[in-house]
Amino acid sequence: MVEKNPSYRGRLAPSPTGYLHLGHARTFWIAHQRALAAGGALILRNDDLDAARCRPEFVAAMLEDLAWFGFRWSEGPDVGGPHAPYDQSRRHAHYAAAFDRLRAAGAIYPCTCSRKDVQAAASAPHESPAAPGVGDEPHYPGTCRPDHLAPAERIRRATLPRAGVNWRFRVPEGETLAFADGHFGPQHAVAGREIADFLVWRRDDTPSYQLACTVDDAAMGITEVVRGADLIRSTFRQLLLYRTLGAAAPAFFHCPLVTDEHGVRLAKRHDALSLRALRAAGRTPAALRAGW
Ligand code: GLU
Ligand code: ZN
Repeated sequence: MVEKNPSYRGRLAPSPTGYLHLGHARTFWIAHQRALAAGGALILRNDDLDAARCRPEFVAAMLEDLAWFGFRWSEGPDVGGPHAPYDQSRRHAHYAAAFDRLRAAGAIYPCTCSRKDVQAAASAPHESPAAPGVGDEPHYPGTCRPDHLAPAERIRRATLPRAGVNWRFRVPEGETLAFADGHFGPQHAVAGREIADFLVWRRDDTPSYQLACTVDDAAMGITEVVRGADLIRSTFRQLLLYRTLGAAAPAFFHCPLVTDEHGVRLAKRHDALSLRALRAAGRTPAALRAGW
């Protein structure tokens, strides 16, 4: 049940790396219904930070497919709004300002490990109970934490510019992180065990998903984040960022992942289940939603 709350602000945040499929639509529909039931607003955000994988034709397709399915939003890349721009690729200054705050707070440190180094040193990622089979990011062992470095190296790294090196958030070792999920109930994770030092900024001078998502949800006044259960682990990371940035955290509602008849998670490779393909095959949104 969602209580009437005109100040409710929800969001849809697709990444235009492929065509939207029925799994996205299912999660988004829950977000849409919750915003509607509250009598609040729904914001569309274009999560197009990954320049190598995002494509303009997928952005166009996403807008078209969402509208066809029956989604309506009051702010977004196509309609604008008080928090424009709604494309992450155009919000670099917001992320850079957050980076500066994190650095000034001593919450992040540069990491010179390659992806290979991290994979070699990492223990296998734990899966989240709510999203079995979905691996989390590799567990970074803290190799580049300042207290693990020789003093001279520590001083050298303390003055590094933002670009050219990866930056990680230092998690508060041993602290139990908790939040009440709107769907799954109370969630807990121990920092340093389930949640390791995570990436906030990449050497190519772009923010990580964790930082961009937190900065935007805070800046856009989102009051409830509705998304797939594969992101429950990320919520703990984002809560640490909210706290360090001095921003109020929204409520979180994670949706069970949609699987196919073999129990395999719907992903973009299930092309027959893309909204485009379903539409071309003559399926209607009302019929697709019938079982929901
Ligand atoms: N663009 C992200 C994704 O598609 C959104 C994640 C989120 O809702 O926080 O995975
Ligand atoms: Zn490192």
